[in-house]
Amino acid sequence: MSQASVDPSSLRVWKFGGTSVGDLDRIGKVAHRIARAVEDGHRLVVTVSAMGRTTDRLVATAREISERPNRRELDALMATGEQQSVALLAMALLERGVAARSMTGAQAGFRTSDLHGEARILKVETDALERALASHDCVVVAGFQGVNPNGDTATLGRGGSDTTAVALAAALGAPSCEIFTDTDGIYTTDPHAVPSATKLDQIDYEEMLELASLGARVLHPRSVWYARRYGVEVHVRSSFSFAEGTRVKHLSRDKEQSMITESPVTGVALDTAHARINLVGVPDTPGVASRVFEALGNAGVSVDMIIQGVPGDDSSRQQMAFTVAEDYVNEALEAVEDVTNALGGQATVSHEVAKLSIVGVAVGSTPGVAGTMFRAISDAGANIEMIATSEIRVSVLLPLAQAQAALNAVHAAFGLNQAE
Ligand code: ASP
Ligand code: MG
Repeated sequence: MSQASVDPSSLRVWKFGGTSVGDLDRIGKVAHRIARAVEDGHRLVVTVSAMGRTTDRLVATAREISERPNRRELDALMATGEQQSVALLAMALLERGVAARSMTGAQAGFRTSDLHGEARILKVETDALERALASHDCVVVAGFQGVNPNGDTATLGRGGSDTTAVALAAALGAPSCEIFTDTDGIYTTDPHAVPSATKLDQIDYEEMLELASLGARVLHPRSVWYARRYGVEVHVRSSFSFAEGTRVKHLSRDKEQSMITESPVTGVALDTAHARINLVGVPDTPGVASRVFEALGNAGVSVDMIIQGVPGDDSSRQQMAFTVAEDYVNEALEAVEDVTNALGGQATVSHEVAKLSIVGVAVGSTPGVAGTMFRAISDAGANIEMIATSEIRVSVLLPLAQAQAALNAVHAAFGLNQAE
């Protein structure tokens, strides 16, 4: 990414989520906050999400027309949500006397890969943005979108405007970016699910990356990846107050020093937006797994947990299961059905599952962590269906009905509840 010529010390890169711009009153409050920063001598690049549940509504409308809407057209539709909110915010700023203008992702120079619905940012060409910044106090950039090599509008995946914000900070040489949202920071687990969750002052990129990928919805996973890669500190904070939030940054060394007293687990995530696909009766011969997972890759579906079961009575046949995001279940089924049909097996889906994960940089190096987690889950009466681990996390797949009890138990078992 090229470094821009805007003075980074006066530049602020901010992002406001959908709730923060959920209605005109809230857009007015955001405009007020920006106007104050301008009065303080700052120049701002602000990215916003679509208002409230707009993106969900657009997707639902598309699904009324087609069960599987054409991905190019779906992107063209979804991108309009953010295009509305940036225009409205720019108008609200102009009303307050702030020299502002809006830009779509394409106008702001976002070049993406071509995978519709999950495009990656390849480059931000900042020329037009810098020209706009030279003559305005605030440029409002539509989040979640860019233009792909075919010249088509592409979106960055649900929640992708966080990534827009971090990419803007990186491209403009800003050392940090602020993500204003409807919670006051990042918690040890979702405080809506577990009210006793504790707010974190700071969290390491690695841990945040895992938590975000594992269903903590507060930040888009790719935004954390970008932040780590370009060394952008991300400050997640409330758009309704001026309180300090949580800083996402590199802090592994501090972490190791304080590890003796702290829990090895920084956060617990529950993801209910995945489904399990079971393949039964596929041959137990070399090359089967590669055919299944290549088919999924070609269909643009990413797979998370995978298990290959012990063969049953017929030892030439075996079972295999994996999890995929709910949004891609139909694509995934279609992709594997071709292969299983050809091999004489069968594919079924279980929707009633949830993935519970513990994350911490010390998880892999602390003995007994998995044991503590599994004990808490069994005490909560939940049955573990699949397990996956890495150096810094342990994830299990559970029946959906028992997931909340298991989350409470695991969160408490690692001492993450707020001090009374
Ligand atoms: N509006 C998009 C979504 O709902 C992008 C975002 O909010 O970050 O996924
Ligand atoms: Mg979001």
